[in-house]
Amino acid sequence: MLVSNRAATRRPLDSRSPQLDTEQCNCSSCGSEESRRLFTEVYHLGKARAELGIVKCRQCGLVYVSPRLTPQSVEKVYQLDTATTISDEYCWSGCMDGHRFHHLLHKLKRLQPSGRLVDVGCGGGQLLAEARRTGSWELFGVEPSPMAAKLAAKHANCTVWESTLHESPLEIDSVDIMAMIGVLEHLHDPLGTLRYAHRLLKSDGLLAVYVPNFNYLRLKDTGPVAWLRSRRWSNLHPQEHMFHFTTQSLTRLLRVAGFELVDVDIGYPFLRGGRVKRCLKLAAYGAVRGIWKIAGVHCGGIECITRRCEI
Ligand SMILES: [Zn+2]
Repeated sequence: MLVSNRAATRRPLDSRSPQLDTEQCNCSSCGSEESRRLFTEVYHLGKARAELGIVKCRQCGLVYVSPRLTPQSVEKVYQLDTATTISDEYCWSGCMDGHRFHHLLHKLKRLQPSGRLVDVGCGGGQLLAEARRTGSWELFGVEPSPMAAKLAAKHANCTVWESTLHESPLEIDSVDIMAMIGVLEHLHDPLGTLRYAHRLLKSDGLLAVYVPNFNYLRLKDTGPVAWLRSRRWSNLHPQEHMFHFTTQSLTRLLRVAGFELVDVDIGYPFLRGGRVKRCLKLAAYGAVRGIWKIAGVHCGGIECITRRCEI
């Protein structure tokens, strides 16, 4: 889902050495122009390249990419380089992995057992298919990738609009539950999309969000180990992940958009790979969940349920 950011300023392509179009931007959460550079990553797409910066807002602590690829450049990434994107794995490799949404959907069912549930950026339809088994909601999907949208409609047996949320035919004040699983980090303007979701939801509507946790990614994918594995200081996928959240920066953004926190938890992991890898992932999930419950330190994927409130 690609949404332009009005606050961004564009840098034109250099005709002498092919570069992907990039843009500078301010913090999407507080609007501050002041940030500190954490990493620089040079991204290559064929012969074209782009120097991308991962920065931290000095005011509110949100980590985001600036300069970043423009929406047009990101579209080229998805069209020409999907084999190396995280989105590709979410859309296809994990399409039968719906049970990872089991806990989330049962929580939603207790809070809102019926009504219209819309999965925004539904990928291959994993959550929708599991929602059909779990509850009695009227299900819809929104997915800009044509291939993923078709797969989701078939997999979950429901209407899936091949569009962004803004382009979908959803009406104001018409949705009971909205899910954005692995979506916000991809957007150029997550606050704008959350504010539009706020308009589409009914007065007591629920919004469920999952994002990767920057604190975990920083341990796993940055520093000397990442450098030895890939010759890069960061593996944060800045070509497609424009934002890197912690529980603090995510809940702040949700609050600014008009949502109050109902529940925050560790997101269930994507289980791919061989049996040993899957077992290790589940063991790590149990350990991280234990740390969260005992010490209150959240270093796993961030899963939030929020409720729309008046602003
Ligand atoms: Zn900020």
